[in-house]
Amino acid sequence: MRDSKALYINLSKGIFSEREIPKEVRDRFIGGRGLGAFLFKENMEDEPIVIATGPLNATPFPMTGRVSLSGRSPLSGTIFDSNAGGSFGTFLKRTGYDALVIKGRSSEPIYLYISDKEVRLEKASELWGLDTLSTTIKLKEFHGNKVSVISIGPAGERGVRFANVMEDGRRAFGRGGAGALFGERGVKAIVVSGEGKTEAFDREKVSNAIYEINKLINTHPLTSQLLPNLGTAGMMRVINSFETLGTKNFQKRSFSRADKIGGEELKRRFLKRKRGCLNCPISCERVCELEGREITGPEFETLWALGANLMIDDLPFIIALNEKANLLGVDTISLGSVLAFAMELKEKGIEDFGVSFGEKRGIMELVEDIALRRGKGSTLSLGVKEASSMVGGEEFALHVKGLEIPAYDPRGAFGMGLGYATSNRGACHLRGGFSVSFEIYGVPRRVNRLSFTGKGAHVAKAQDAGAVADSLIICRFALLSTSLHHWARALSAITGEDWTASDLEKAGERIFNLERLINQRYGFSSKDDTLPERFRREIPLDEMLKEYYEYREWSEDGIPKRDKIAELFGDDLRWP
Ligand code: SF4
Repeated sequence: MRDSKALYINLSKGIFSEREIPKEVRDRFIGGRGLGAFLFKENMEDEPIVIATGPLNATPFPMTGRVSLSGRSPLSGTIFDSNAGGSFGTFLKRTGYDALVIKGRSSEPIYLYISDKEVRLEKASELWGLDTLSTTIKLKEFHGNKVSVISIGPAGERGVRFANVMEDGRRAFGRGGAGALFGERGVKAIVVSGEGKTEAFDREKVSNAIYEINKLINTHPLTSQLLPNLGTAGMMRVINSFETLGTKNFQKRSFSRADKIGGEELKRRFLKRKRGCLNCPISCERVCELEGREITGPEFETLWALGANLMIDDLPFIIALNEKANLLGVDTISLGSVLAFAMELKEKGIEDFGVSFGEKRGIMELVEDIALRRGKGSTLSLGVKEASSMVGGEEFALHVKGLEIPAYDPRGAFGMGLGYATSNRGACHLRGGFSVSFEIYGVPRRVNRLSFTGKGAHVAKAQDAGAVADSLIICRFALLSTSLHHWARALSAITGEDWTASDLEKAGERIFNLERLINQRYGFSSKDDTLPERFRREIPLDEMLKEYYEYREWSEDGIPKRDKIAELFGDDLRWP
């Protein structure tokens, strides 16, 4: 049987302790996002930050190098999780810890050093104020290159509500404001280093499962061609052609100059090389060259947020803006949304933040003001929901539960609307079920994107499968060419336990329901399962929600019924 332990860190007292993670917990919540939700709930009075690996981290399985971070979002007030690729998850697993539970606040800036031999809290006064890449470089100079670093930038230090946490200066825990959580607790960075590995229970079965998974990844057009060749930016053309690309703060549904900011153009003009998370045959990450500098990204969502949504088609400008956002440590999706919101405020004569649709002038300066919470940038640093309550424009402050809407216009794919409305962390394309997969790409099979019939079940199943992926943890793109059957076999081969796809589906449903119940404790209900008025007029949300609640066996008020809770959790869902 696998052993598993969590490291509890009390920042206020500067002390650490270890606790076993019981097998029953891992059976029910798997790891990653599921384990994060469980440990958050168990320690809810402290609202901890939980960083969790999954059972497939540090194994030879492809696309398993990610790591999950959970907490209470400063942007939405919900529980949220965010996961990042790169190598931090693998290194953390090698320390021997499956999870970090971080409580309390440090009275001075610190960073955590965690290895398989020791745990230390180190002073970080000299790092405070540095951008994310400089922080990473300094820590690697000091600790050597056999470490992985996650850190915040100036935005997280100042509590920008959509501040991110960057991993090795290149991948992001983007959505929900993880950087602000680090900043308010005085945590500048975490450094991990370890030599351990996850032992396979049955090596032959592991080899067979890897062979099968790689064969599917290497033959499916999305994972063998589109993503390796063009990265996520390759999605721009298709999403735009289906009139599903939010443009001009979603006043339009497609961008006439989208080709100028798409994957083909990025590859032709700026791609220096491809890169990937540990153990990934796809390597979707782009490394671009601009004015002699190597810059990671931009991803599709960033090209949309800082391009189409602002009506800007200047690719070098977007690359430089993405670089600035990552160095300062802000989520580019929310950043693009607050900029678009500011532009519409000006267009409608309500408030002038010095930026206009289609114009680059003033944007770089405003982004810096947002990240440093200076002048008018301070208002926008609160996100569109809070900013609109201060300056007006609520009707075009586009968010759900406080989290800004990502690229996909739900009027072009109704399932995305239902997903945004019901995602447990607010408007998120991934936590919402990523229904463009079946509504636009036809994966695993095509579903009418402009019909509401059947969307309740489709979206709920996709959300639960996503919760499984985020808990194992595997990259979401793995599910484009493989199914939970393959990952159940992988998990069985590693653990020696007997996992089936339906076991995983049930665990995914349990995790999603636990998050829902936590949000209910924070006062969220069906009234929050909604969409901005700009979309509601054209989307049959009420019909989809009715079907969705029925499928999930929730009440008409969107509350999991007693029988459903008993089925998923037994009789002892204890709250602290
Ligand atoms: S597809 Fe991209 S994000 Fe996913 S594991 Fe591979 S490199 Fe990382």
